[in-house]
Amino acid sequence: MSPAQPVLRLEALSAGYGGLEVLHGVDLVVQRNEVVALLGANGAGKSTLLAASSGLLRPRRGRVWLDGAEVTGLPAERLVRLGLAHVPERRQVFATMTVLENLLLGAHHRLGREPRAAIQTDLAAMVQVFPRLGERSRQLAGTLSGGEQQMLAIARGLMSRPLVLLLDEPSLGLAPLVARDIFQAVAALPARGCAVLLVEQNARAALQVAARGYVLELGRIAAEGPTDALANDARVSAAYLGRRG
Ligand code: ATP
Repeated sequence: MSPAQPVLRLEALSAGYGGLEVLHGVDLVVQRNEVVALLGANGAGKSTLLAASSGLLRPRRGRVWLDGAEVTGLPAERLVRLGLAHVPERRQVFATMTVLENLLLGAHHRLGREPRAAIQTDLAAMVQVFPRLGERSRQLAGTLSGGEQQMLAIARGLMSRPLVLLLDEPSLGLAPLVARDIFQAVAALPARGCAVLLVEQNARAALQVAARGYVLELGRIAAEGPTDALANDARVSAAYLGRRG
């Protein structure tokens, strides 16, 4: 694998539901060890793009490449094993299981294949990233605060040791200080070997965390580039940052 090989590449990807085509030929790359923001209005197709990448939705046309290998149409379970984790919107944790059990579920395909010590090391790393999860490891996930549940959903995704994490609206409904903690943790993931594709309504925060970004409009990429350039783009800032250009 060449160092310049993107960890995730979408090539002319189209996807939709029944008679509705939502994505129309999207090209997007995420390089190893970078955070990429995906911005767009409600209904632009951001969640659909993540689902079509992660195997939750079968693409209609186009291709998905993971770490140089074509994975188009593979089911989500296979893609998790190959290094692609998806944390969907509205943090779905298993409410009646403990924090620790939720984390171990994220590593279920590694259990029995890898030394238990490797999984223990990753559990310890998750507690470093999100110290509150360590304090609450025996607590039922359903009794955590919204922010803690989001941390757990991300940490559970990370327990699969992904090369790339698809993260849908992690700050939704959270207090600003909690959201800030989550963005800080996301910004640190590339240093741990995990690239991130971040969908976020809070465009300002997303552009701060990410190095590059894409703007999706009506299922097509309308703008892309380094986030500082996007933040200064008059159209992007008027539409997503609430500033006049
Ligand atoms: P939001 O920020 O509101 O979540 P989004 O950019 O993530 O928006 P999507 O959730 O991808 O947008 O939705 C794109 C379009 O696809 C919308 O018109 C939506 O109604 C439609 N859609 C999404 N999921 C389904 C589904 N399961 N079945 C049918 N249509 C769907």
